[in-house]
Amino acid sequence: MRILLDCHEVLADFTGAALEIHGYSRKEFEALPSYIPGAWDLVRQLGLSDEDFWYPINRAGEGFWRDLLMLPEAPYLIHWLDTQRLSLIEEWYIVSSPSQHTSSYAGIRAWVQEHLGMDWNRLVLTNHKHLLANPDTILIDDSESNTAQFERAGGNAILYPAWCNHLHACDDPLGYTLKNLDHSLKC
Ligand SMILES: [Mg+2]
Repeated sequence: MRILLDCHEVLADFTGAALEIHGYSRKEFEALPSYIPGAWDLVRQLGLSDEDFWYPINRAGEGFWRDLLMLPEAPYLIHWLDTQRLSLIEEWYIVSSPSQHTSSYAGIRAWVQEHLGMDWNRLVLTNHKHLLANPDTILIDDSESNTAQFERAGGNAILYPAWCNHLHACDDPLGYTLKNLDHSLKC
């Protein structure tokens, strides 16, 4: 079995950095009347147009993506994948959606190098993850749209619990994901 791991909201804290660049703490964001737990659209919840949302991020360039903080559960998830690799998992890859700005491509690559090492080269950048779907592949992703599309295309998917999906109330995203992954790998 092959595992494809999403980057943002699974390994890296995109939301935290996007909120910060727009002047919000997570607490302030969650206090906004427009905040809806489980709803995907961060841009609208901040009351911004796409253009206004992306402007400071694009201006920050590669550094915005390179400097995203690693989420606290991420090292444990990576360790689990590495230790299971020889027995149940053929290989695992990071599959990440870049933004429309070219700086995100270099920035995401730099983030991966910084956190997984210079020689780590199993990174796929695409906005069309479903093209990688097949019955021997599992996508782990926080986007309900991505996981549904991946399953429709013939792959397997596990929704990673996050503030922006219907599993937002889950207090143990890593435990939930590993339980589902373990089950899928043994089926
Ligand atoms: Mg994501």
